[in-house]
Amino acid sequence: MNNDYKILDSELRDIKWVVGNFGRLTKEHFTINIGSENLKFVPPRRLVISPQFFRNKNCLHCGGCCKKGTTLVYTASGIAEMQKIIEHKLVISTCNDNEIIEQLLLGLIKVDVKVFCFDNNVVNTKSFWVYNKVRNNLRCFFNKLKIDAGKSAEECLWECIIHVVKPTNCAFSLRVCDSKREDIILLTKKQYGRNWVFGCPAEFGEFNREEFEMYDLKALRSLLRIAEDLGISTFLPEIINWLESWLQSGDPVPKEPVKIYGGNVNQTRKFF
Ligand code: SF4
Ligand code: SF4
Repeated sequence: MNNDYKILDSELRDIKWVVGNFGRLTKEHFTINIGSENLKFVPPRRLVISPQFFRNKNCLHCGGCCKKGTTLVYTASGIAEMQKIIEHKLVISTCNDNEIIEQLLLGLIKVDVKVFCFDNNVVNTKSFWVYNKVRNNLRCFFNKLKIDAGKSAEECLWECIIHVVKPTNCAFSLRVCDSKREDIILLTKKQYGRNWVFGCPAEFGEFNREEFEMYDLKALRSLLRIAEDLGISTFLPEIINWLESWLQSGDPVPKEPVKIYGGNVNQTRKFF
């Protein structure tokens, strides 16, 4: 890992984007110092999952969201996961080569942040790691065109060759924790996530169980790991538990907001 670089504003911005998503789901008051900024978070008064979160993102694999300088943002658990893959020479079907993960690890830059939790009055220094090969507005190093004989380059799909260890900000992309009012948080899915700026052409479709398990739950678990690495207690376990129980129950896709925490659903509905 490399520590000789000046951290770019865009890298701090992408760290803040990740923090903003789990910060809105916090159970405790905390302030986090990133660069020269102090971001404050308070627990939501109400937290609901929007019916829109259950839509399937029909990604077209156009590579649009990976072709500009997105920062890859990791914390300690993500790094440990990659080190384990390399150490045990695990064969990962969605990653062509362990050397690619080694390259990723070598290119990471450490960014220290300070987390102040009001509940225990303690300031902790925690770290993010960002990947530097995506600097300067270049296509992400890990986004490759999957050559398919008989198809033109335009028809071939772009794929993420580190899908299994892709960072949370890539996994979370179109999923967002939104707030119409600061104290009411909505977990939803919309194009105004990270990908909006890239003109994402994906259109949302009907619920797809396999994709929901593979992408949506994975993204939420990945966000939870980051919050845990930073020592922040969030409502993510409650959200994940609710979704897992719902999947097991075989109940239909919710058509109304699902209350996870706080006031009743009818009160919540009038805000959305
Ligand atoms: S890590 Fe994967 S999903 Fe993220 S920008 Fe790179 S290729 Fe795209
Ligand atoms: S821009 Fe949208 S459609 Fe294209 S790869 Fe990214 S998420 Fe998929």
